[in-house]
Amino acid sequence: MNSADEHLYLQLFADCIAVKGSVRSIIYDLGRCSYKIVPNDLLKVLQRCSLKSLSEVIADLDAKDKKTAKEYVNFLIKNELGFLCTKNEKEMFPKLPLNWDVPSTIANATIEVDNRNFKNLHHYILELQKFNCYFFSLNFHNDISTAAFIETINSFRNSDLYSLSIAIPHTILSDKIINEITKLHYILNVVCYNAPADDVLRYSNDGRIKLITKALTKKLPATHIPSFTVNISHFTEAQKFNTFYNRKIYIDRYGNVRNSVFAQKHGKLNKNETHQHIKRIINSKAYNYLYNVKKDIVKTCKDCEYRYMCTDPRIPMKSSSGYYYYETPCSYNPYKGEWKS
Ligand code: SF4
Repeated sequence: MNSADEHLYLQLFADCIAVKGSVRSIIYDLGRCSYKIVPNDLLKVLQRCSLKSLSEVIADLDAKDKKTAKEYVNFLIKNELGFLCTKNEKEMFPKLPLNWDVPSTIANATIEVDNRNFKNLHHYILELQKFNCYFFSLNFHNDISTAAFIETINSFRNSDLYSLSIAIPHTILSDKIINEITKLHYILNVVCYNAPADDVLRYSNDGRIKLITKALTKKLPATHIPSFTVNISHFTEAQKFNTFYNRKIYIDRYGNVRNSVFAQKHGKLNKNETHQHIKRIINSKAYNYLYNVKKDIVKTCKDCEYRYMCTDPRIPMKSSSGYYYYETPCSYNPYKGEWKS
């Protein structure tokens, strides 16, 4: 930015959105699926720039703040988060609509599979697809046989599936299984748990098979370690919903329906139950209240700049005075801007 630009207005790109945290902020670059951490003072400059030209904004500041404001503007332009335009042009850039929806009552299903219930799987898939559920994850137990595994992953062949994620015990990994996985394009990724080392199985030729030393766990860690996803879908969903629990279903190896592996059971499925039975369960308040517990209404998270990219499997609790909170701490402290080591 030079002095000839000062009559212009600063405008963020529509898919670059600033989110204020307690002690620092983030500009989400939703198109590039990335983000930049910025000082809260930069948001104050942005706020002023929403109404005034750069020269008007700078005129209101003292010498030190003038220099800092110019640095912020240069930072935004250099990182292609914003651009300069005339007042008339500024009106031509509407904000990104933040509404979110998908045509699925259940968008994502995780099912535990063992050597007894794998025969029910095809039935579950057919019933879940009546809710337009197209994203599936299968967690195979230790006792799964090679034959049962191959039959199960092939049972999706004629279904309208978008993607399938799989967790299998390392003990059953073999050339036969790798060949079978390689043939099925709808398998997004495969995690082999209880492996001797953490690695990506390169000889599986497409890198979809990952080895991890960890076991599949049904317990949350004492301190939550968040995972982040930056994109338009996640950001817009997080404005109104809990991005971990919204429209998700978990079916354990006994047919119990849960919000997740960490949550209580809400009903049971067997091979004779239809989608109407699933519908009754997911429509119950006890089941679906979790959909709406967004980060903006949870203690601590509401003040965190990561709140629209954070995926969090912890179950929010409700206090007697009506606010939501988590029983275990997060490894990030938004009031200090620090991570626990
Ligand atoms: S404080 Fe909350 S929103 Fe922030 S990183 Fe931790 S879990 Fe995510």
